[in-house]
Amino acid sequence: MTFSRVGIVGAGQLGRMLALAGYPLGIRCLFLDRSAAAPAAQVAPIITGELEDAAQLAALAARSDVVTFDWENISGSALAPLEALTKVRPPRAALEVSQDRLSEKALFAGLRIPVAAHAAVDSKDELGLPGVLKTRRLGYDGKGQIVVQNAARLDAAWAAIGAPGLIYERFQEFSREISIVGARSATGQIVFYPLSANTHGSGILHYGIAPFTNRLLEPAARTYMKRVMKALDYVGVLAIEFFVVKGRLVANEMAPRVHNSGHWTIEGCVTSQFENHLRAICGMPLGSTRALGYTAMINFLGKMPDRERLLAIDGLAFHDYGKEPRPGRKLGHCTILKSRTAERDAALVDALKLVQWS
Ligand code: AMP
Repeated sequence: MTFSRVGIVGAGQLGRMLALAGYPLGIRCLFLDRSAAAPAAQVAPIITGELEDAAQLAALAARSDVVTFDWENISGSALAPLEALTKVRPPRAALEVSQDRLSEKALFAGLRIPVAAHAAVDSKDELGLPGVLKTRRLGYDGKGQIVVQNAARLDAAWAAIGAPGLIYERFQEFSREISIVGARSATGQIVFYPLSANTHGSGILHYGIAPFTNRLLEPAARTYMKRVMKALDYVGVLAIEFFVVKGRLVANEMAPRVHNSGHWTIEGCVTSQFENHLRAICGMPLGSTRALGYTAMINFLGKMPDRERLLAIDGLAFHDYGKEPRPGRKLGHCTILKSRTAERDAALVDALKLVQWS
């Protein structure tokens, strides 16, 4: 049975791009969010209310064939009652495991997916060097984490986020960061997008290029993602971020949802990650993930760039999420699509001159 009414918890930019991808398929999205001005509420109907309010969640479920989430920090206990009312996809277990960096790493390690040496820490004395101190929960986009390069930084790092319930990871001397995005349907069909090579600043994605082709890393990333999908009986789009260390993949984290490093698929692939997420959770066959050329995706953080000057770049698509500017906030992105890598690289250099991250 296929569905066409999708309830989405959280109405951010990911929800907005899901709603926009749904219209041509005849899929209608309904959101639950605190703000009637949220990015997705500008393009689709919304129930306004607290995201973990049981009555509001039940109201969302009552009007949906399937419920998914744009906000991945919703607690499993808030979501659990919905399973008696409607389908929840991706499965709650995937959400819960990804909310705790320690259980996420345990899942990876249990599936023989390499991870950085790490330990749960409750006191400053347990830290080695160099490492990265992270909150186990609610950390994202570089928030809730501090790199500790030397002994002099230990006290400051602990003072900044020190508390019980942290994780400490060995610092990875990576040559690159890459991510894989894939989708699994309700019948177990799996598709993978080409890899994206990602450049971060202060822990947040600045820009990425895709497809990133590598004959060793690509099959490894696919194998690892398939293991995670099967272990969780996953339905929907899943993303996994990796460090490349000495030519091998080390898994950093996963996201049980569409992912920033997959935004390039809107213009860059036959079927976008947003459409494939909807197809998967609605019980439809998945679409082709074939790349249409060579892309670069640049995030707009904190401040919107000059739209007209960017639009003058040939092959550039502009996305404004309709958010109020705030330092570090993801406000939009652009994707450049070209038929040759050299042209893509040249256009990326031009576009980067017009974008400032703040
Ligand atoms: P995360 O919030 O875990 O995705 O981390 C955000 C970014 O911080 C990553 O994309 C890396 O650039 C950097 N980072 C996180 N953990 C480590 C690590 N163990 N070693 C080196 N860099 C890291």
